[in-house]
Amino acid sequence: MITVENFVGGNFVTTAETFHDISPLDGSVIASIPRTKSVENAVEAAINAQSSWGSLSREERCDWLDKIADALSANKEEIARLESLDTGKPHDVAFNVDADRSINNFRFFAQFGREMEQETFVMDDAINHVIRKPIGVVGLISPWNLPLYLLTWKIAPALLMGNSVIAKPSEITPLTAHYLSQICKEIGLPDGVLNIVHGYGPEVGQAIVEHPSIKAISFTGGTSTGRIVAATAAPMFKKLSLELGGKNASIILEDADLDKAVPGVLRASFLNSGQICLCGSRVLIHSSIYEEFMQRYLQELESFSIGPVISTEHRDKVLSYIELAKQEGGTILAGGVVPDKAGAWIEPTVITGLSHTSRTATEEIFGPVVTIHTFDEDSEAIEMANCTEYGLAGSVWSKEKGFEIAEQIDSGMVWVNTWLHRDLRVPFGGVKNSGVGREGGMWSIGFFSEAVNICVKED
Ligand code: NAD
Repeated sequence: MITVENFVGGNFVTTAETFHDISPLDGSVIASIPRTKSVENAVEAAINAQSSWGSLSREERCDWLDKIADALSANKEEIARLESLDTGKPHDVAFNVDADRSINNFRFFAQFGREMEQETFVMDDAINHVIRKPIGVVGLISPWNLPLYLLTWKIAPALLMGNSVIAKPSEITPLTAHYLSQICKEIGLPDGVLNIVHGYGPEVGQAIVEHPSIKAISFTGGTSTGRIVAATAAPMFKKLSLELGGKNASIILEDADLDKAVPGVLRASFLNSGQICLCGSRVLIHSSIYEEFMQRYLQELESFSIGPVISTEHRDKVLSYIELAKQEGGTILAGGVVPDKAGAWIEPTVITGLSHTSRTATEEIFGPVVTIHTFDEDSEAIEMANCTEYGLAGSVWSKEKGFEIAEQIDSGMVWVNTWLHRDLRVPFGGVKNSGVGREGGMWSIGFFSEAVNICVKED
């Protein structure tokens, strides 16, 4: 059994009370987790560390990010093992998606930091110099679906811009964050620059958001939790970035290349057991190609292997939506069944016959469940895609009209003839109830710094 500890001021510390980390694969106890309720010590350590960290040159901080990337890269296999143990995801997903991207987050921001250009605006008689100062101590809170991937997506730019960090991973998946703290200790990252605290969201997460010395909060998680975070942070005028839930549509137009669309839409439906905020949980198909698309989609689904969902509680939530779908008049075309074994398993589930405005088709399930809908006119597909409270992502599959349709989808990101094809320089984030703000490239730099203008008048 692994003992997860808090990483505060360069020391590993625990709390009197701990709780268990449970494997979704078989229900066994895999780790003990500190039940942290206060972040006072972490805040003190972060304040003490921030000024010397912020005084390093950007180049020196880029070197540190590269050092972290090197150390993670040398231990990529271990990261994948821990991520797979904690989340139940297949090893190849943990290795090629989670571990790979976690390393790349540090690598990318190291490179990005080196290439950032001086921002100046020249007037006839003066020059404006925009300088970027650290904010101070920042709080980073992340969910369980892509544990190290999403946490490092925040840690890397926060450190790059000279902030010290208090990070809190999900209490359901603490293992790789704990491993990152061990790696940072090993390579000698200055004490207190990165502090990682563990525990329940409403306790230690809330303590981070409430703390007056933590000046910015970057949160990724559910929309209802985001609402609590926003309500707590807003009266304190904290900088706030919220990456929240989604209910994304995959739209297959009449002219789609089915050789690409079928495997692409299937992957968008079920990668990571449908537990990626970007997954396409609503599949909208032009009625003229419905029969052929579905026949091929269901056939390829038979050989698409997924892991369990994150916990038995989450599996029960997913099952409750499958029951709701039946009550709403849906037909289960595939899956819907819990295999007879321990752990949080549920078969990939495909549902037809529901209105696109039904609860099943508009509420976030965040599991291996998709609803299938047909349309005759492209305008109907756009109306269906935009009919939920969410606006995170989507994909359009078409030989000719992809861009034109994509422009009309109310969401932060739309892929055309691909899905989850990521360039880390571009803005990432949602509209409507899917979030506030953007991450990625200059957007992360903007969030994790205070832009200050110095206007110098010329003689
Ligand atoms: P969650 O909202 O339950 O928890 C997210 C994090 O917030 C956890 O670390 C949790 O401990 C913490 N938390 C809970 N209550 C808190 C509080 N009162 N104050 C501060 N922190 C608190 O989400 P989850 O179940 O871990 O993750 C699934 C959700 O995350 C889904 O809705 C999914 O769409 C969303 N998500 C969004 C993105 C994105 O980029 N938009 C990416 C991944 C996941």
